Amino acid sequence: MKNEKATAKNTSENFYLSDSECRFLYKAAGKVLHNEVIIEIGDYYDNATLWLASGAHEGNQCKLYNMQSRFDLIDQTEEAHTERNEIINIDTENNAIAGYIDFSYSDSDETVRRWKYKIALICLNVFHRYDDMHEILNGWERHLAPKAGVIIFNCSTLESSQILKDKTGNTGKFVIEQREGSLALIRLDKCIHHWMLDSSDYGICRYCNRTRNFRKMLKESRSYETRRRTLSNKQSLIK
Ligand SMILES: [Zn+2]
Repeated sequence: MKNEKATAKNTSENFYLSDSECRFLYKAAGKVLHNEVIIEIGDYYDNATLWLASGAHEGNQCKLYNMQSRFDLIDQTEEAHTERNEIINIDTENNAIAGYIDFSYSDSDETVRRWKYKIALICLNVFHRYDDMHEILNGWERHLAPKAGVIIFNCSTLESSQILKDKTGNTGKFVIEQREGSLALIRLDKCIHHWMLDSSDYGICRYCNRTRNFRKMLKESRSYETRRRTLSNKQSLIK
């Protein structure tokens, strides 16, 4: 499955970024401050990485880390690993911008635990199941700077669009800042909401216009409570 996608990405033009998507990455990277960092989690090192690197380099010269995702490391073959390193080496020799990118980390629980830098921008450039992408983002979110953004790639796929919906939806912590082609930039929501509710408990924030369906949230938490109570009742009967 993953290999099919790898082939598709390597051979098909569809997966390469348009000029406007490249400009979008370049600009987003250029805004990151010098004392903050960008991490790109990607199965592949491609033109997106180079655009981020040029933006960072010509902007405030923040550090840019490109890491393979934890799910790619697990089933990575020796061959693929060598191939990736060869590509990186070729580009580093020929391209000063590629030399600007730090490839020395891989995404993992361990890397997240030991991470010391404030992240201003996470680029999630992977093709994976929803659960996998969710796990990657949730791990890294604890290192986000106060106004940090996340760029989600491949939003035309079901999995990425679900992540986008999830992060910016009813209980999400982010708001959509900008979309460009298949990319979406979301940013941590800093608003201290002031909800105005209508008769069906549908809220709208008077400051940021964010909407939230309180009735749905209440239903969800009640059904969770019921499940929990039923479970603990059963357990006390067993005792
Ligand atoms: Zn608000």
